[in-house]
Amino acid sequence: MCKHAHTCANMCTHVKQGSMSSPKKGPSRLVLLGTGASSSVPNLACLIRTEGPECTVCQEAARNPLSRNLRGNPSMLIQYQPSLTSNLDLVRVGNADDDGVKNILFDAGKTFASAVARFFPKLGVTGIDALVISHDHADAVLGIDDLRSVHYLTPYEDEKAGRTKYEVAKPIEAFCSDETFERMQGSVNVCLPSTSAVFPYLIPKKQIEAINAGEPKRFVSRINWHVVANLSDRDIDVDPPFSVFGLELQPVRMMHGGSYICLGFLFGPKDARIAYLSDVKVFPKPTMDLLLEANIDLMIIDSLYISEEHDTHMCLTEVVQVVRRVKPKRTVLVGMTHDFDYNTFDQALCSVVDDGEDLNIHMGYDGISFDVEL
Ligand SMILES: [Zn+2]
Ligand SMILES: [Zn+2]
Repeated sequence: MCKHAHTCANMCTHVKQGSMSSPKKGPSRLVLLGTGASSSVPNLACLIRTEGPECTVCQEAARNPLSRNLRGNPSMLIQYQPSLTSNLDLVRVGNADDDGVKNILFDAGKTFASAVARFFPKLGVTGIDALVISHDHADAVLGIDDLRSVHYLTPYEDEKAGRTKYEVAKPIEAFCSDETFERMQGSVNVCLPSTSAVFPYLIPKKQIEAINAGEPKRFVSRINWHVVANLSDRDIDVDPPFSVFGLELQPVRMMHGGSYICLGFLFGPKDARIAYLSDVKVFPKPTMDLLLEANIDLMIIDSLYISEEHDTHMCLTEVVQVVRRVKPKRTVLVGMTHDFDYNTFDQALCSVVDDGEDLNIHMGYDGISFDVEL
């Protein structure tokens, strides 16, 4: 019998009931807003079907609003304490030292709105400064329509309406690959409705075209787009790092099914790197080399099922092989389906690791938070 304590005492802090203020000084805070797969947990099919055995994980997640099995689409928030020691040669957006904590969001998928409602008030988040997009699948981008609700806002008196209204105080800085940006503009993806077909007003050029064509003016997000990786050039092994309000992010290419590339991110101090690897099936050699070279303290990685293989995502068996090679100090799983039950994860982990092997692998859950020095 192997034994793996999967409780995260000493590894993380939890987003508690009631309110937490925004971190004022000291370390930055990293929060996993979503740790589920695209279908989320509870999986809707498990709630409505009448045939077959009951899915206990989904039923428990549906019944218990505090369940650690309640999982939205993969997403991460960094409440970043800007450091003045970051590399000044990097492309820099905003001033690192203008007004304290920067809220940097990674992906905004289908469940983004509920993640905001569940966690932003408790975390003291009053607005988003930046959005980093890993790839253009629905579970990473379809929530960007709700960015309009997480802008910093300035109140003004509308005399005609006789009430206080709000306007966007500053744009959100968004970072993505060339391929994601092109698909946002609707110029590449002809098989599926592109983001611009659904949200044309989120692309500045399309906004102007719409207004010129006599469309009514809408209250929409103001987003400044930055292309930070040229994935269309498949000969590039490693894209250059970029800076988000002084936080240096090293993008890494990950194969997310066939030839489709999703971006992962390495960041943090050299002796305690953090790897955010949300959607991956295979690491190309240059990416694996970067992971092997890095001194990774915390690896956050895709794990769809326990042992069943999938074409576009890793399963826990594959994650275990990566952990054995890369040797991060601790590993936290995201992108998990109802295959994972928080209450019985020890047994699942025992089934895929060797006896006596301690790889420090833990299940993430929505709202898990880490104090990190960045
Ligand atoms: Zn289920
Ligand atoms: Zn995906």
